[in-house]
This record gives sequence, C-alpha cells and structure tokens, in this order.
Amino acid sequence: MIDNIYNNQLIRFRLIFLFVLFSPFAIYSQEITLERVEPPFWWTGFINTDLQLLVYGKNISTTTVSIDYPGLIIRKINKLSNPNYLFLDLTVGKGTRPGIASFQFKSKGKVIAKYLYELKGRKKGSATRHGFSASDVLYLLMPDRFANGDPSNDNMPGMIETVDRANKDGRHGGDIKGIADHLDYIRDLGATAIWINPLVENNQKVYSYHGYSTTDYYKIDPRFGTNDDYVKLCDGIHQRGMKVIMDMIFNHCGSGHWWMEDLPSADWVNEWPEFTRTNYRAGTASDPYASAADSNVFVRGWFDKTMPDMNQHNPFVINYLIQNSIWWIEYAGLDGIRHDTHPYAFKDMMAEWGKRIAQEYPDFNMVGECWMNFPASVAYWQKDARNKDGYNSWLPSVFDFPMYDAIGKAFNEKDGWNTGILRLYDILTQDLSYANPSNLVVFAENHDVNRFLDSQNIDTRKFKMAMAFILTTRGIPQLYYGSEVLMSTGTDKGDGCKRKDFPGGWPGDPHNAFTSQGRTDTENDMYDYLHRLLQWRKSKEVIHSGKLRHFIPRDGIYAYFRYNAKEVVMVVMNNNEEAKTIDTERYKEFLKKYKAGTEVISGSSIKDLSKLTLAGKSVMIIELK
Ligand code: CA
Repeated sequence: MIDNIYNNQLIRFRLIFLFVLFSPFAIYSQEITLERVEPPFWWTGFINTDLQLLVYGKNISTTTVSIDYPGLIIRKINKLSNPNYLFLDLTVGKGTRPGIASFQFKSKGKVIAKYLYELKGRKKGSATRHGFSASDVLYLLMPDRFANGDPSNDNMPGMIETVDRANKDGRHGGDIKGIADHLDYIRDLGATAIWINPLVENNQKVYSYHGYSTTDYYKIDPRFGTNDDYVKLCDGIHQRGMKVIMDMIFNHCGSGHWWMEDLPSADWVNEWPEFTRTNYRAGTASDPYASAADSNVFVRGWFDKTMPDMNQHNPFVINYLIQNSIWWIEYAGLDGIRHDTHPYAFKDMMAEWGKRIAQEYPDFNMVGECWMNFPASVAYWQKDARNKDGYNSWLPSVFDFPMYDAIGKAFNEKDGWNTGILRLYDILTQDLSYANPSNLVVFAENHDVNRFLDSQNIDTRKFKMAMAFILTTRGIPQLYYGSEVLMSTGTDKGDGCKRKDFPGGWPGDPHNAFTSQGRTDTENDMYDYLHRLLQWRKSKEVIHSGKLRHFIPRDGIYAYFRYNAKEVVMVVMNNNEEAKTIDTERYKEFLKKYKAGTEVISGSSIKDLSKLTLAGKSVMIIELK
C-alpha cells in the first residue's frame, strides 16, 4: 500500500477513509472502495475551467457523488462499462478560491468514502512562462545512467526489477539525487536546459531503466525518488538559471500499468485479435498515397508487446493525457515537454493536446520525436505547417532528424558533388518546408542512436566540427550527456551501450569525469572546447535569433554567416584532412564592411580577413569587427 501513496492528498484521504471505515456513523460496505483520484489535485485560475477526474475503486460507479465547495460544480458523472471507474466532469468556476474541497461518495444514502481534493493557487507568472528556445542549449541525460546519488533507493519494495549494474540492459541505480548533485556541472559546462529521459514509474519486469513504459502517469518511479524530489530538482534547475524539459509518452503506456489489469473500457487501448506490432513507418501518417491498411497498422499497432497502444480517440483517454501534461507543467514548473513517438498517436487528438497546452501556456515549447529522414515529412508535424491536407499539429518544435543524418555523414565522407560537408548545406536548403526552422532541435546524437564519436573512428576533430555546427546553425542545439568527456558506445551496439554510466557518477568509480582533475588530458580538451563555445553562445543573440546565409561548399570549405542589425558572425569549416588557406573574396557581400575579427574558440584576433588559414578538419567562428 505504501508504494501507492504518492502525495499528501492521498495520505490524507486514506486517513479519512480509515476514519470513515471505522466510524460508528459510517456504514461499511466491503463491495465499494476508493483507490485513486486523478489528477490527485488541481489549480484554480486556468483559462479552461473544465476538470475531469478519474475515480477508481471497486464498484465506485454505484455511488452517488457530491461536493460542497464554492465555485466547484459537478457538471456530469460519466460511467463507463467497468463499474470500478467514474469520470467526474467538474467546472472550476472563474474566481474559485484555492482550498480543500471534500468529495462525498454515498451508497444507499450513506457516506462510504470521502476525498479531500486540493485546489491550489497558481504561481505568479505561471501562464506566461517562456519555454526553451534557440537561445538555449539542451543537455539530454538518462537518469538511470547519469549518477547514483542515493544507493539506498536502488531497490525498492514493490518495484519488480532490481539493480544490476553488470547488465547493460538492467537498472544501474542512477536517480534524481544524482542529477541534483551535478546540476552545477551541467550549468558550468554551459548548457541552459536539461531534458531528462522519463522519470515516471516504470514497474516493468525488464528494461524498466529507460522509462518509456509508464505504469503510473502521476508518480515518479521510487527508484529515482519521490514526486517531491522531482519538484525540488526542477527548483534547483531554475535556481541555477536553467530550464527543465519533461519527457512524456502518450502513444503507449507500459504493460504493467495499473489500469491494464482492469481497463475502464474495452476501447481504452487499441486492441487487436492477436498481437500486432506497428510497422514503425511514421511516413504513413502524412503520406498522400498511404493505404488504409498501412496507416491503420502504423497508428493502432503496438510499439512493443510491453507497450500497449493507447486509444486517444476515446475522449476520456485524451482528456486524461492532456490534464496529465498540464498537471506536471504546473506542479513542477516545467519549461518544456519532449513528446516521444509523436506521430504514432492519433494525430487529430495530439493536435488537441497541443492546442489545450497552448491555451494555458502560450509561450511554452514542446518538441516531438517525429523520426523521419526527409525534411518535408518532419515539417508536416510542426505547428502552422502549410500542409495540403490542412493538418495543424499544434506542436511548436520537432527534432531535426534529417540534419542528424547529414551531420553523421558530413565530416566522415570525402567531399563530392553531393557528399561530405555539402550534406549540411543541402539539408538547410530544405528549410523552405518548415513553418519555423529556428524552432527545430538540432543534434548529433541522442539516447536512441550510437554515439557520434563511434561512427567517426573516435576522431575528436570531427566531433568538434559537429558541435561547432549545431551550436552556430539555426535552431535549438541538443547535447547528449557524457559526449563532452568522450563517452562512446563501444563495439557492442545494443541500446544499453548507447546509455552507459557517466564515469564518476557511482560511488567508487575509479574514473571521475565530473571534475577537471579526474578527467584525462584528451577528455579535458574536448570538455574545454565545448565549454568555451557554450559559454560564448549564451549571450549571442545573433546566434539565437539572427538570420543565416551560407555559400555553396567548395573543395570541402563551407562558410556561413549569422547576422542581425548589431553584429555578424562568420563560421567557416575546413572538411579536408589537410590545412587550407582560403581566399575570402567570395564572401564579400558580408566581409566588405569588415577588416578584422576575433576567432571565438582560440580567442585570437584576425587582422586581415582577406585570407584565412584553417587546420585540417577544423572550424573557425569569427566575430567580425
Ligand atoms: Ca539510486
């Protein structure tokens, strides 16, 4: 029972329930229980005054529900096919004051349970928060693999999978305390926002470490910490001037989700006569020629046997998911959401999700994983795309997967007509497809792919080029934990190896890469390079919001400019193995007004811009003077 207690409300409720149970005035009915109310609390002062509560308990639908709280009205009581659920449609009227409302559940005229429901007051500025943007740099980390700050929570009562650090696919014990202990490390590196892979409960038998099989949408997994620990972590991130992005998954839940044993209705998940896996062809959701059969298997097929596909067309399901997002935004003070497997859910309903969140938080940001290789396919999913079918996703940001592909090849290939550095240029020419290219998240690697360095023979020059590119091109750069200290996937390419433990994150680790003293010289060289660029980028509006113009790459040399009314930054890349001296006459439309500059990475001043000499496989970033 203790495992299910996830907030004070529920503790308070249980006390009241016990009181009612044993009170001489209550009629105890064994047939009726009250187990859950979700969302467990709410707020006054939202624009949308609707609130729908999921109430779960044995035969709870046989009760009558009443409430006596000024401004809070039960509009409708919905009963589904399963008598163990009630869905209460409430109105939290304008001007309703924060406080504790008491729900009474009656059977045959007698109160059999009460639930004290808290309506909190919203924090000042909550609605006008600014989400992450191109002025930020995201640092993605996997909580089980970053740092184990509290070995005492590695194994927790009621949680099926126990810690096994020797198993690459097992739980390694990383947690919220481990992240909290290293917030200064992330801030000092120069990242300004942290995207943490999912932290909500994943009480699955295996592969629970990655967090993508939710078993409770309202509860942080106890092996990571408590809900309160998460809120404090978010506060700590904010106190350091950084933003926090929560990873959410609404296409599927985990097979161990508490409702899978007792679904509210048969259509809660997309059921098939026999297990049917999605075809993973996200293009079917936008392909003008897609067959009905392919589209159906894509969107209704299950991501995995352990990941039941939820039916967002059930209005109670989509409402549940929308409210869950708003609850976490408001509760933890989020600055953004990363939404997993975005096209795999019903797209009309996910547009409703985006619209509802934008209604409450107009400057919020959400990025969807729309993993496709063509810019047009990805562009389809960004809010306000000019789609021929009229679809508007209401998803402000998407990951730039086509650019990820190009970055992986650009520095590793011989330069040719359409190979090498030209790939970056080619992908940028496709920005005509996007409604808002500066709100794309640009990355060289993430938790689902082999680390960049592995595909480049661990050549740190290429990694530096990739980082210099994502930090100076348009969009929102995203880093992946540990690459700054040369973490690699290694020869075994399983998912577990893409998410290795950060060295120094576990008590007794022989190698601690969190400190300069603990890092090797080569690790420090990479760290220092990124550190310098990130610190510089923080205040560079010209990179955050300036315009971009580039010149066709020639002989492995690629130059582009970021500019606004105040300043111009020139970025030039030499993709050749050998050093090159280049004549800058081609770039005179930008350079004609400038005589000198400062190279950002070396800090050296350049007195003559007419000729530039670049080392092999290197980048110069020059502030023009
Ligand atoms: Ca731990």
